[in-house]
Amino acid sequence: MTSTSLQARPGSGRAGTRPTARQHRPGPAPRPRVADVLAAAGGIGLGATLGAVVTSESWGALTSRGGVLLAAGRLAGFTGAYLMLVMVVLIARLPWLEGVVGQDRLVRLHRKIAPWALWLITAHVVLITLGYAQLTKTGALHQLWTFVTTYPDMLAAIVGFGLLVMAGITSIRIARRRLRYESWWIVHLYTYLALSLAFAHQIVTGVSFIGHPLARAIWIAAWASTAGVVLVFRVLQPLWRSWWHQLRIVSVREEVPGVFSVICSGRHLDRLAVSGGQFFQWRFLVRGLWWQAHPYSLSALPKPPYIRVTVKGLGDQSRSVAKLKPGTRVAIEGPYGAFTHHARATDKVALIGAGVGITPLRALLEDLPRSVDVTVLVRASTPQDVVHGEELAALVAERGGRLHELVGSRREVRLDARGLRKVVPDLASRDLYICGPEDFGDAVTGAARQLGVPESQVHREIFSF
Ligand SMILES: Cc1cc2nc3c(=O)[nH]c(=O)nc-3n(C[C@H](O)[C@H](O)[C@H](O)COP(=O)(O)OP(=O)(O)OC[C@H]3O[C@@H](n4cnc5c(N)ncnc54)[C@H](O)[C@@H]3O)c2cc1C
Repeated sequence: MTSTSLQARPGSGRAGTRPTARQHRPGPAPRPRVADVLAAAGGIGLGATLGAVVTSESWGALTSRGGVLLAAGRLAGFTGAYLMLVMVVLIARLPWLEGVVGQDRLVRLHRKIAPWALWLITAHVVLITLGYAQLTKTGALHQLWTFVTTYPDMLAAIVGFGLLVMAGITSIRIARRRLRYESWWIVHLYTYLALSLAFAHQIVTGVSFIGHPLARAIWIAAWASTAGVVLVFRVLQPLWRSWWHQLRIVSVREEVPGVFSVICSGRHLDRLAVSGGQFFQWRFLVRGLWWQAHPYSLSALPKPPYIRVTVKGLGDQSRSVAKLKPGTRVAIEGPYGAFTHHARATDKVALIGAGVGITPLRALLEDLPRSVDVTVLVRASTPQDVVHGEELAALVAERGGRLHELVGSRREVRLDARGLRKVVPDLASRDLYICGPEDFGDAVTGAARQLGVPESQVHREIFSF
């Protein structure tokens, strides 16, 4: 079934010399400057938030009963709330950040900031309660009760705080491992509700805003624009993109045992700007699966009207892929990821993959400019386990590169520094693109470091966030 197989044929696709009639649209080059500007804006915003809170305090307020606790509580609250906004922006799928930083690193940064934000907000709740309790000479619990029952918007804020704590607890590594991804994801959705619930009490009771309409307006604008980007890039754009392309499954085919290619056809795929190595969130619109979106990398550049992913059945959703029927509607969100040829620092690359980790490398290989010298290393337990082996061989041969299939058990095939140097003697002068199981990626990255490959030349896609 050549027409829907998306296999490499000499002279076809971007890797070929002869353009096809309906080529795919290349993904735009990332713009690091825009990401730098956004990072600078984030820093300035934090400075402005701290400045606004500090300058709104007075000596009289600080020296009055409970004054220090209240001031510290306000500082903690606004800083925590600002960090929450930053966290939301980091995972808002802003294309200017996604293409430069990559979603995996953005998610890691989001996770690093999360405990700080949550601790600051917790400190805010405790300090403000203790401060007011001191001021009104009452107990902390009584003060908390007074807040909830008499202060405007405070009940909503406390509920919001509870939801944030729940999201925090479920993200702790041990709890996260025990939870299904979908359960964890739903709890996380509640953080948006939590932030909305907490917003009004900041505006209504925030001392820093009393007599400072400009500060209040800027704070409202920051929250409104954050909500806006979430709505646009996490909701409206995916809806629009899915409607525009109208993807439907054409065929599902077993590539190697347990690994299935899903080939879809759709409208306007020649207008879908995507780079080889990027991934989409895929939502198969059938009963039981429609509400879950899972990340899968393209295993070939789109060949309009076709697009393909290759999926290894590991859990409930990925195993169900094998049973999907032709005609099933598919919604997509993306493209995401910085694992593309744009990340290259040199004109020589080594693509190193194992298992289903070959898939983004297969698409990346197609997307690399002809001038780039390519070595591909494929790791598998048996020759039958090499996913898209024939396609890789054809693409490598077409561009005069080298393909090494490292087949055998872990004891037989060692991917340590010695082993790697034997296969790719000039590794240190190449860009490395690595994708496969986590321990495989760690081993190759460690060996590359030993062989002197600069950090900036090591690019890695990890199949979990
Ligand atoms: C950037 C990226 C690209 C990927 N590309 C491919 C690919 O081309 N082919 C392929 O076979 N696999 C790919 N994966 C892995 C694939 O997404 C998971 O195997 C799949 O989501 C598992 O879902 P499940 O319900 O079958 O299994 P589960 O049992 O629910 O989960 C198995 C593992 O996948 C993780 N996972 C589940 N759902 C998601 C999600 N929505 N987002 C992130 N992680 C999740 C879980 O945390 C768990 O570690 C990719 C993952 C990422 C992050």
